[in-house]
Amino acid sequence: MAQILRGRPVAEDIRQESQKEAAELKSHGINPTVAIIRLGERSDDMAYERNVITHCNAIGVDVKKYIFGANITQDELITNIHMINADRSIHGVLLFRPLPPQFDDNAVCRTLSPEKDIDGITNGSLAGVFTDTKSGFAPCTAQACMEILDYYGIDLQGKNVTIVGRSLVVGKPVSMLLLKKHATVTICHTKTKNMPSLCRKAEILVVAAGRANVADKNYFSAGQVVIDVGINADSNGNLCGDVNFDDAEKIVQFITPVPGGVGTVTTAVLVKHVIEAAKHSAESRCAKVIKGFV
Ligand code: NAP
Repeated sequence: MAQILRGRPVAEDIRQESQKEAAELKSHGINPTVAIIRLGERSDDMAYERNVITHCNAIGVDVKKYIFGANITQDELITNIHMINADRSIHGVLLFRPLPPQFDDNAVCRTLSPEKDIDGITNGSLAGVFTDTKSGFAPCTAQACMEILDYYGIDLQGKNVTIVGRSLVVGKPVSMLLLKKHATVTICHTKTKNMPSLCRKAEILVVAAGRANVADKNYFSAGQVVIDVGINADSNGNLCGDVNFDDAEKIVQFITPVPGGVGTVTTAVLVKHVIEAAKHSAESRCAKVIKGFV
């Protein structure tokens, strides 16, 4: 039976560090603050928002909510994002997506300052992930996968990793983060041939396809580490991942559960990014002041 890689201890570890850093920032008069931008009242957005607020409160991160009707225009939204960019008291921004269909997602995301882009949605942040430079932040879910592997001491150097999914939210950024750790990465998608065989050969398998049970017993092999990123509802309305957990746990060595795996760590990473953004902002302001004196 596989050993379960639970998200809770990983998230707890991140939270404890974040709490210390938030207290340190506050002692210097900086209140780490996140702006939440939500359009409309989608129940999954609202559930995630409550979760984020609970975590922020526990850690000492302030939250400013910008809630708009789903009928707000793109220009109005962009004007608000410009205002948030200019507001020095806000360090990070969580923008709920997908936006309603009338919005040009790219145009809206482009408006956000990469320094405040704590969920890696701007081209500036993604460029940072792909070029391995310090610009913005990696998408929280991709980073959460890395935090889990790191916390459980799973060595990545030279390992064969297969990723199912090539989205900009998970598949592509997690591939880059794994490459940075010297893994050998294969990315699968809907046009991939022989996917079960590519997955079986992997020492580490990351599944982010957005399809319940897309990976069944044909995808696994003994000794594997399986990271299930998926969040789906099964036919009974219960949460399930993209991996058939019952099949996998009989074969593989380690597996993340759903719920209680990657999703649990994602929120902790989001709050950690707010604190890092607050630190960067304080450092760059200090640097500007010092430059002014020289
Ligand atoms: P997405 O944008 O829909 O992308 C899915 C990717 O999987 C696409 O690249 C697609 O290939 C590929 N794919 C879909 N079905 C496939 C199949 N049968 N075989 C091979 N590849 C397949 O989804 P996403 O935003 O990356 O999210 C992926 C999953 O992660 C979802 O279940 C989502 O709910 C979950 N998620 C979890 C968290 C968390 O915090 N845990 C956060 C975000 C997302 P093509 O490119 O060829 O279409």
